[in-house]
Amino acid sequence: MSFSQHLKNVVGWKTKRRILVLAVDDYGNIRIASKKARENLDKAGYSSSNRFDNYDTLETEEDLEALYEVLSSVKDKHGNSAIFTALALPVNIDFDKIIESDYRDYHYELLPTTFSKLPNYQNVWNLWKEGIESKLIFPQSHGREHLNLKLFKENLAKRDPETITCINNKSYVRISNNPYKTIRPSGAFGFDDFSETEEHKIIIKDGLDLFENVFGFRSDTFNAPGDRDHSILHKTLSDGGVKYLETPLVKNEHQGNGKYKRIFNYTSKRNEFGQTFLVRNCQFEPSSPKKKVDWVEYCLKQIKIAFYWNNPAIISSHRVNFCGLMDENNRAMGLSTLKTLLEQIVKEWPNVEFMTIPQLGDLMTNNS
Ligand SMILES: [Zn+2]
Repeated sequence: MSFSQHLKNVVGWKTKRRILVLAVDDYGNIRIASKKARENLDKAGYSSSNRFDNYDTLETEEDLEALYEVLSSVKDKHGNSAIFTALALPVNIDFDKIIESDYRDYHYELLPTTFSKLPNYQNVWNLWKEGIESKLIFPQSHGREHLNLKLFKENLAKRDPETITCINNKSYVRISNNPYKTIRPSGAFGFDDFSETEEHKIIIKDGLDLFENVFGFRSDTFNAPGDRDHSILHKTLSDGGVKYLETPLVKNEHQGNGKYKRIFNYTSKRNEFGQTFLVRNCQFEPSSPKKKVDWVEYCLKQIKIAFYWNNPAIISSHRVNFCGLMDENNRAMGLSTLKTLLEQIVKEWPNVEFMTIPQLGDLMTNNS
């Protein structure tokens, strides 16, 4: 394993306890709506090789049921099941209202409304609540919506055909009409000029309040959707109750107009608002076609390095690995790989403890 993998683990809070966190992004978000939507986009000339644009759908009943089965099939030293910290979005684009406005205005809807509107999704919100109750899934904030509003609104104003085709198909994928090098369509807090961060503060405050409205409690954690958050937003996050900030080891923070600043982070580092950073030090992306790796072996090695340095293992993953609406094989493969990984973990480290991000954060901050 590479030097950089060790580097991720040198500095930071230390513990002899074998703590394992599964941090999984993108829950609650509509990316591609259905097979039919994908077909329509392809036919219109907007095909994509991106795995998120092809497999990442709003979690279905089958997705959650099959996931819960895998998570509850293993137990840690306390008898607790594995648990996903699901970085989740409380709202989705209200496609109907945008169409009603003749594609002029942006509207969003709350996640339970999304589930209630979609056929075959009637029971998903109940399954969410059951999963939280059974301690198999625990939502934390991944922002308000998983898209860059500046770009989205500008494309609406231009009546960009790809954006309109997406809206008509109740989907939002990586659209190509994007004049900004520093903004990604899915990155809510990417910006061109620094002054745009003022709008981001409003979105963050609203997103944290809506998270509470939807899930019934405030989020202790924040992980920015897509592009990274500028640290100017941390005060707003702190005011909104966020204690734990997810961040990469080396954050290239955009300062505006294409200028970047490099910031080094580690798990347990604090900022001036008393917020604690967490850096994911393991990766699990079984649906990623990029690396022809054995994901179980790859992830186990990373966990081993984390534990060697007496660090918690914070595994990074995405919902797309466990989605079956577009292709059942994608979910079957992702979940069977996850099951093997979890079985190997409890076998190799019988004293492992499964935790959520806030549980780990609370432990670190009380002990440091
Ligand atoms: Zn995301």
